[in-house]
Amino acid sequence: MSKRYLIIGAGFSGTVLADQLVKNSDCVIDIWDERDHLGGNCHTSRDAKTGIMVHQYGPHIFNTDKKEIWDYVNSLGEFRPYVHRVKAMSKGKVYSLPVNLHTINQLFGKSFTPDEAKVFLETLADTSITDPQNFEEQALRFIGKELYNAFFYGYTKKQWGCEPTELPASILKRIPVRFNYDDNYHNNIYTGIPVNGYTALMEKLVDHPAITVTLGKRFDPGMDLEAYDHVFYTGPIDAWFKFKYGRLGYRTVTFETHYADGDFQGTTQMNFCDEEVPYTRITEHKHFTNWEKHDQTIYFKEFSKETTPSDIPYYPKRLEQDKKLLLQYRTDAEALQGISFLGRLATYRYMDMHHVIGEALDFAKSWLLAVKTGQKPPVFPNREA
Ligand code: UDP
Repeated sequence: MSKRYLIIGAGFSGTVLADQLVKNSDCVIDIWDERDHLGGNCHTSRDAKTGIMVHQYGPHIFNTDKKEIWDYVNSLGEFRPYVHRVKAMSKGKVYSLPVNLHTINQLFGKSFTPDEAKVFLETLADTSITDPQNFEEQALRFIGKELYNAFFYGYTKKQWGCEPTELPASILKRIPVRFNYDDNYHNNIYTGIPVNGYTALMEKLVDHPAITVTLGKRFDPGMDLEAYDHVFYTGPIDAWFKFKYGRLGYRTVTFETHYADGDFQGTTQMNFCDEEVPYTRITEHKHFTNWEKHDQTIYFKEFSKETTPSDIPYYPKRLEQDKKLLLQYRTDAEALQGISFLGRLATYRYMDMHHVIGEALDFAKSWLLAVKTGQKPPVFPNREA
């Protein structure tokens, strides 16, 4: 008889997992999501007024170095080339990001060659910091205080709501520093934007007779899930346990929507690095799809704030106290039977789309293998880090 599985959450984790389970085993799957759409925070939809494809929960650019993941997403829908080129506003001037030769020459009024810029940056870097312990030390060690103050200090304080000294160095390591004029925000081999948006990719993933998606269905801990042979949970791990040890820290994002004629800022993303500007960035989504023509434009001012119980969690903060809580929740989760936890919220990590998809693909494989060989199936896709 077919196994019955429940997947809670219809983002990339849940929909990729569903696709893999129905393709590789005999099962029927229910997917529940409390929102009225598929896609989680990657959800896209066309704006009713302008017809522009909008990334409802903030900009998402698909990047990966792995050909198999690129091939997988391309098998779900057409992608077109898109290179994310971010601009930064600092003290009233516009600069190129990530920090590259143009940024250095712009900020210091120079015309350095790559080698000259390298030597120059070494004179700015604080070499007394040998083992950077936090975001600020990482920045001062590698780019020095001038670039740090111009582009990172204010933005990071607004984005995370704390001093950059309280944040892990890993957050800064997401962004490259280059000594050439390459202003691609990402370092990956494959990059693009899906022509029909991300939600269409996930519609394709769940378009199978053995998968039933119920939208607008809220999961509450303690619900009777006896009917299912296994449950895969992609919501916040602390919510599964009714926050019994306390709440994990997240930043959330709110958006102020604006319309204009023509082109508002000439690019998809402008970061506002000064602490005095209340928003972190403005994103103008028509620039994701330059192959489309739209007379009007829609843009969003993005504000970051602490998450309250009614807010959507976006960025896991992972401060020291969060990591301790996470460990307690993970220990309890490991002791449960018939439930697995995966994805950004259930593993409490700052993940990009390609990480989420790659991990769901790998997890499906190892989970199915464990079941087939009578081993204990994995509870998490990752080890605690
Ligand atoms: N950041 C910054 N200034 C910028 C862009 C990024 O200080 O102009 C810092 C900030 O702390 C941010 C981190 O670098 O959280 C990672 O940036 P990324 O652009 O990857 O953030 P995302 O697009 O995921 O919000």
